[in-house]
Amino acid sequence: MRIDRGFHRENVAICDVDVSSGIAGEIACLECGGDGNWGKFAPEIVGADYPCNDCKGTGRMWVSL
Ligand SMILES: [Zn+2]
Repeated sequence: MRIDRGFHRENVAICDVDVSSGIAGEIACLECGGDGNWGKFAPEIVGADYPCNDCKGTGRMWVSL
């Protein structure tokens, strides 16, 4: 499914969307890749195990349908 991101919806991402909740879709976090760890991008600054800010370390995020 196509996901439109950004303030003006100018960024497009293609990903699998779980629509089992019926009212919203759930996807793997687009910021961290779904593992909830942002520390892999800058371990020397934040440490190797740092929770992703976008998904709060859960690895999942909701999108509107
Ligand atoms: Zn994340």
